[in-house]
Amino acid sequence: MAKLYFRYGAMNSGKSTAMLQAAYNYEERGQQVLLAKPSVDTRGDNGIVSRLGVTRPVDFVILPSDDVYAKFGRERSRVLRRTGVDVSCLLLDEAQFLSEPQVDDLLRIAIQEGVPVLAYGIRTDFQTVAFPGSRRLLEIAHSLEELKTICRCGRKAIFNTRKIDGQFVFDGDQVAIDTSRSSAGEVSYESLCGACYLEESHGQLGGGRRRVLVEPAEIVYGSAPDPDFT
Ligand SMILES: [Zn+2]
Repeated sequence: MAKLYFRYGAMNSGKSTAMLQAAYNYEERGQQVLLAKPSVDTRGDNGIVSRLGVTRPVDFVILPSDDVYAKFGRERSRVLRRTGVDVSCLLLDEAQFLSEPQVDDLLRIAIQEGVPVLAYGIRTDFQTVAFPGSRRLLEIAHSLEELKTICRCGRKAIFNTRKIDGQFVFDGDQVAIDTSRSSAGEVSYESLCGACYLEESHGQLGGGRRRVLVEPAEIVYGSAPDPDFT
């Protein structure tokens, strides 16, 4: 049975690179794949942008109103007509930007169409709140796999912090694409561990909806190696 996979990680955990490698692994065996991403991600026009510098155009872009199940079916037919080979896998970058019904479509593609779906994305936004697409993927994916990246302190980064002109910000819209210049300034992101996040946010989680009583002096870093990297 084909499955829906969610491979999640913080920013800079190499998701796009891993996805392009997965596509290559299929193609090396003479198989066909389809690559897609939500239109919300405007980086690299209609391409997958890996931080190692590799780019590759997607086969289709998903608009917020799209029926992903139907769109996949049309693209699959197109590949079959052109190459005579059926699609072996659907790969999605920036899957956090999908809507919940679109993630349900991914499950249907795996179960009803028998095509494995590999969705790559970020679990939470800069306020530690799940993106709608990620929440749904965490709920229904057959398989969850974490792609790890490292915090400035050497521990595993689990949160994404937003910076505007290099300064940490903890309020704002859920989506602000890096490399874009908002009216407020240049947007960038840094992945941090829980301790470093709380230090920078002064104990604020969930965009101020929740406050964890943590004083910077109370954060215990310890000296033992991070079990996630041993
Ligand atoms: Zn840290």
